[in-house]
Amino acid sequence: MEFKDLGMNASLLDAISSLGFIKPTEIQEKAIPVLIEKKTDFIGLAQTGTGKTAAFGLPLLERIDVANIKPQGLIICPTRELCLQITTELEKYAKNMRGLRVVAVYGGADIQRQMRSLQKGAHIVVATPGRIIDHLQRKTINLNNVSIVVLDEADEMLKMGFQEDIDKILNHVPAERNTWLFSATMLPEVANIAKNYMKDPLRVTVGTKNSGARNIEHQYCLLKERDKYMALRTLIDAFPEMFGIVFCRTRRDAKEVASDLLRDGYDADALHGDLSQGQRDVVMNKFRDKHLQVLVATDVAARGIDVSDVTHVFHYHLPDDIEMYTHRSGRTARAGKSGMSIILANMKEARRIRYMETSLGAKIELIKVPSSQEVRRRKLAHFVEQIKETPQDSEFVQLVLPEVMESLANVSKEDVVKRLLALECEQLLGRYKKDVDFNIDPSDSRGSFSNRNEARLFINLGTMDGLDSELLTTLVVNETGLTRSSVFDLNVKDKFSFFNATDVPVAQQIVKALLDTQFNGRRVRIELAGSSPEKRNSGYGDRRGGNGGGREYRGGNGGGRSYNGGGRDFRRQR
Ligand code: AMP
Repeated sequence: MEFKDLGMNASLLDAISSLGFIKPTEIQEKAIPVLIEKKTDFIGLAQTGTGKTAAFGLPLLERIDVANIKPQGLIICPTRELCLQITTELEKYAKNMRGLRVVAVYGGADIQRQMRSLQKGAHIVVATPGRIIDHLQRKTINLNNVSIVVLDEADEMLKMGFQEDIDKILNHVPAERNTWLFSATMLPEVANIAKNYMKDPLRVTVGTKNSGARNIEHQYCLLKERDKYMALRTLIDAFPEMFGIVFCRTRRDAKEVASDLLRDGYDADALHGDLSQGQRDVVMNKFRDKHLQVLVATDVAARGIDVSDVTHVFHYHLPDDIEMYTHRSGRTARAGKSGMSIILANMKEARRIRYMETSLGAKIELIKVPSSQEVRRRKLAHFVEQIKETPQDSEFVQLVLPEVMESLANVSKEDVVKRLLALECEQLLGRYKKDVDFNIDPSDSRGSFSNRNEARLFINLGTMDGLDSELLTTLVVNETGLTRSSVFDLNVKDKFSFFNATDVPVAQQIVKALLDTQFNGRRVRIELAGSSPEKRNSGYGDRRGGNGGGREYRGGNGGGRSYNGGGRDFRRQR
């Protein structure tokens, strides 16, 4: 399909062709024609880098009446940087639409200046949630003519605690408008917005870039740390055909879990950095040949494991970042098969799961560790299957059969079966006699995004700058002196990244240390977002100047520290 088939007018076609766009991307192909043609609500599940700005920007421009200089389109996005990027992008598409005005309003910049800009008139307003509320309260913006609201990076906005602001905004625009929502994942909060504010939205999903899209079911159960081992055992027993890897954070944990499993009668062994190459090969060969049912490994040691039949990956501890998680879970569902990735999460870890869902682009479903009764039921069902599949023509069996039949002559088939099952059951009874429930009630743990102390940060660096989560962590640690555990849930995208800091003061410290430094020749922009205005603006607290925020560019050697993104020497040896 080509751009000219999507129903756009000649002036937009000309603009995008001069930008060098040749073929529409998948989301553009799916979104543009319907959004131009129909007055519909819309949900686009797409990551950044998929061309989604044009996917909503082009149909939005198509729908603007330039003669009527009032805000007709409102785009809400999480950060100042995104506001500016979207504005620039729209201006490029609208280069042939004379008189069209796109105005960006975002927190941390001079509000008077934005008021003047709005006063001059705007057809499209691109805004961060907090700042648009400020303008609404000051009555310096009128949204009565808005016919399209775009919520961009909806999941990130909700994670930053903008839920209330978004509710307010959506209650402030005419009810008959259309809402177009873009998000990487359909988190429950995103689904709620759709439910509360959208009418029969058309839904379009485009491929997620992470391997989360493969045939992997992502699940987690919620446990006390001290119950993790028993829960792991129960899970292993609940999947009698399981052939899996248990990931631990440290060598010590890996050794301990493996030796406990061995003690309790499982075919398990550990793979970790204390082993010599020869020892590792022995363990790996045993696993590959299925002499082991469970391999307990550290992340480093498990790097590159390529065994095709792994059915389950267990995360005994959550990894630091999503890349590691993706890497771990990618050990299952290989060669076209399906697999399960199950996180044994304590309360603290569970709070991070939502962030992981966003970065992963997949839902991580809460499951319960099966009850003892359920494990017994599954084990017995499996035993029965084994009976059915076992060949019956062994010579020895033939030899003893007459004698056995004679001794069982007075016992019915049903009784034989009952007794066999009871016997098998007896072996399990010791372990699963008591019904213990390890599961914790999730309502205590996940909470809402805004009720937590953690703070989410945005930085204008991404993979395009040679960044990965390891390097981003190192950058923060080196600049602040904080520990590595102060930052987590890093989501490194192509042009920017999001990550979490343990609390707001830590986040502020990071902003202060990194703002306006240089990374690979780029000036670092970093923002902290949250639900209160102080939190929202803290990244720019000292920058309310007349120039729309932002100190003057300090140049290459003007004091801005420089980072070389390619410098692998930052990388911690794990
Ligand atoms: P986005 O996902 O909206 O952040 O877009 C990612 C980048 O791809 C932006 O720099 C766009 O200018 C560019 N882009 C968007 N659509 C196309 C297209 N159809 N062909 C080439 N580049 C595109």
